[in-house]
Amino acid sequence: MKPSGGIAPAGGDAGLAMTNRFTTPAARAAYLDRRLAELYPETPVPLWHQDAYTLLVAVLLSAQCTDTRVNGITPGLWAVADTPEAMSRVPVARIAEIIRPCGLAPQKARAIAALSRLLVERHGGRVPRSFAELEALPGVGHKTASVVMAQAFGEPAFPVDTHIHRLAQRWKLTDGRSVEQTERDLKRLFPREHWNRLHLRLIFYGREHCTARGCDGTVCEICRTLFPNRRRAIPTRK
Ligand code: SF4
Repeated sequence: MKPSGGIAPAGGDAGLAMTNRFTTPAARAAYLDRRLAELYPETPVPLWHQDAYTLLVAVLLSAQCTDTRVNGITPGLWAVADTPEAMSRVPVARIAEIIRPCGLAPQKARAIAALSRLLVERHGGRVPRSFAELEALPGVGHKTASVVMAQAFGEPAFPVDTHIHRLAQRWKLTDGRSVEQTERDLKRLFPREHWNRLHLRLIFYGREHCTARGCDGTVCEICRTLFPNRRRAIPTRK
């Protein structure tokens, strides 16, 4: 089934070969930066949180889980504990019970308990504002650290999730060799001061239009504009 990419193409007859103005990644990036800002002028952070700590825990919970489901359980978790000090006093089994709907509850509960203890012991109960210190916390990888740096602290970062990794390949901004390579390529192509809002806009577009399956690469505005002569999907790597 094709996604409902019900946006009109940017002009021309799709039946005729057309001149493509977007033959380089830099030209495609400039168009995307402008067009996505028009489509998504507002960039609300999808995971509900009240500060850097609650965002960190929410991002950790979002692994292999939807943001909607995470937002459904975090109010109950914050009611029990919403600071590292308070969370480090909650038994792991109790945390697991609350977060069970998110999946991987035992691992996530252990990580939340352990990182809360470490925040108290090593960082005075505060979330550190550096990639190295964030990535040293249990359960916190580079993507999670990037989300916290961007969305809690406003530091330039480009978290690459599955939506962004897929779109970057379908829009030929990267060869998709790895998530790490995609992040490097996107950072090279887009102005640093746009990264934080742009990564959210890419996620919004990916969720709305560009699902993992079911698209032939020709159905919605952006692909039809960037690749007017495309006739079939390009394979994407995970
Ligand atoms: S691959 Fe291109 S045409 Fe297909 S949904 Fe994604 S952006 Fe739209």
